[in-house]
Amino acid sequence: MEKIMGKAIFEGIVIGEPYLRSQKKSRVLEYKIEPHMLADEMIRFEKAIQGAKQELKFLKSSLKGKVKSNDLKILNVHLMILDDPVLLSEMGKRLKAELINIEKIVLDVVEFYVEMFKEMKNPVYRQRAIDIQDVGEKIIDQLTVENCELNELENKILITKEILPSELFKMHHNNINLLGIVTEYSGATSHVAILAKTFGIPTIMGAKDVSRMKWVDKIILDSRKGSACVIKSPTEDQIEHYKEENKKLELIKEENKKLKGLEARTADGVEIILNANIGGITDLIALDNTMADGVGLLRTEFLYMESKFFPTEEKQIELYEKAYQKVKKLDGEKELIIRTLDIGADKQLPYYEMPIEENPFLGFRGIRFTLAHENIFRTQLRAILRVAKGRSIKVMFPMISNLDEIIQVKKILASVKDELKEEGIEYTPYIETGIMVEVPSAAFLIDKFSEHVDFFSLGTNDLTQYIMAADRLSADVAYLNESLEPAVLRVIDKIAKEAINNNKKISVCGEMAGDPLAVVALMSFGIKRFSMLSTSIPMVKRVILKLNCSEIRKTLRDKILDCNNSDEVKTILKQYI
Ligand code: PEP
Ligand code: MG
Repeated sequence: MEKIMGKAIFEGIVIGEPYLRSQKKSRVLEYKIEPHMLADEMIRFEKAIQGAKQELKFLKSSLKGKVKSNDLKILNVHLMILDDPVLLSEMGKRLKAELINIEKIVLDVVEFYVEMFKEMKNPVYRQRAIDIQDVGEKIIDQLTVENCELNELENKILITKEILPSELFKMHHNNINLLGIVTEYSGATSHVAILAKTFGIPTIMGAKDVSRMKWVDKIILDSRKGSACVIKSPTEDQIEHYKEENKKLELIKEENKKLKGLEARTADGVEIILNANIGGITDLIALDNTMADGVGLLRTEFLYMESKFFPTEEKQIELYEKAYQKVKKLDGEKELIIRTLDIGADKQLPYYEMPIEENPFLGFRGIRFTLAHENIFRTQLRAILRVAKGRSIKVMFPMISNLDEIIQVKKILASVKDELKEEGIEYTPYIETGIMVEVPSAAFLIDKFSEHVDFFSLGTNDLTQYIMAADRLSADVAYLNESLEPAVLRVIDKIAKEAINNNKKISVCGEMAGDPLAVVALMSFGIKRFSMLSTSIPMVKRVILKLNCSEIRKTLRDKILDCNNSDEVKTILKQYI
């Protein structure tokens, strides 16, 4: 028996077979195909080429700003090879002539060109050999992953160094029933983590060296907060114990379903608002079965990321209208907060070259980008103002760092309204505006910002990384990227106090809002509005119903703020719950 600890991402207990993602390339088999299978084989080939291109484009956009532009050029070369008519038509011709499976044809053609380029004297051409080999492997990966790995993951617990968001999407789209995920990579606020929660897959991250271990037979994955671990070669007693624990967890989940329709009111009668975060189509669909009161964060960048170019006003109206129609059917307050484009750093657009920066998280992102591209910003504001007419739709601006930015934003908003009026297009002349408080400088100017906006929403994912100076995507400093660190909590307490003093609504929409322990701390600072993934709402609601709001304010706040580290904070909160 061996227990490897990790960070809980989505809660669950799973006993099942592990699937250790192989670091080795899969061996290519050779088999004959019948002439009537030719068309299907050609489709597989075309799909593999498209898949390889998509993967490269994704890689390119996710690396932008993190590596030098010269290093990214290699990916362009690979994309060009994938478009090379000579190479592709040769593969097609040989497939028809030889009638053997396409992966074997790709392997043979690639080998031929690799040998040819290797023979050349010019080092530039010799480098081409490596590029062609690399691209060939990408195409073969597409063909083999599609066939074997995805299916092999069915009903297994995936153990891997890391996993890309696109891979999780692929599994989801192929209806693969993945029982759990264990990664070495850590990043509780990364997009992969957010997706794992969206899809409801029990997941732990930051499990040291798991991809280098040997995994056989049954394993236990416990992704509950506070006990998150994966157990190798468990004893019979342990299996029995976790089966019992799982029964309890399932019972809680069943009970949680009954919370739908109930207001999230504390034991002493204080109403708490629980909104949903929307970061993609899956979240939008999840709104049909959510317990949310409304949507506290519509991350609009997913529309931009999935489009071929900056989405038109009409395309945006379509999305916001769809979101509103779903929000309208919810039981609660039914607010819809649309956040304007928050692009940059880890969120890149495939059709737009962002500048290469040494520190992209401290660079050209969020409102800094949209203020520099006013036309893109104005199109989005037009769409929001048009859909918001007569509805509880609000607009929120990301990454605001100083007052000048919000003043500029408000001027543009006013001018967009004038423009719509002149054009005789229907729009709302009044829309509530808010800012994300996620940059430390903004945290110290809440009184000043209160003169310009109606509400604040705490982006604790970014706020934590900036206060702790710990990159939210770095595995090495993940131990510092902790929202329950006393320093982060003191800043949040200060923001809450200022916002409440200035009669402004304040909510939290970072991942912290979906953690029941953290919610208790935040409520002790007087915060009563939270926005999180739909899947996190039942557990948070369950805890809220039992809390006494005035008591935690009196007894818990000072204790938490006086702690020396996050472990002490967690111990106090756990004892309280
Ligand atoms: C945050 O920073 O906490 C936040 C909600 O925004 P995002 O995760 O999209 O940066
Ligand atoms: Mg943010």
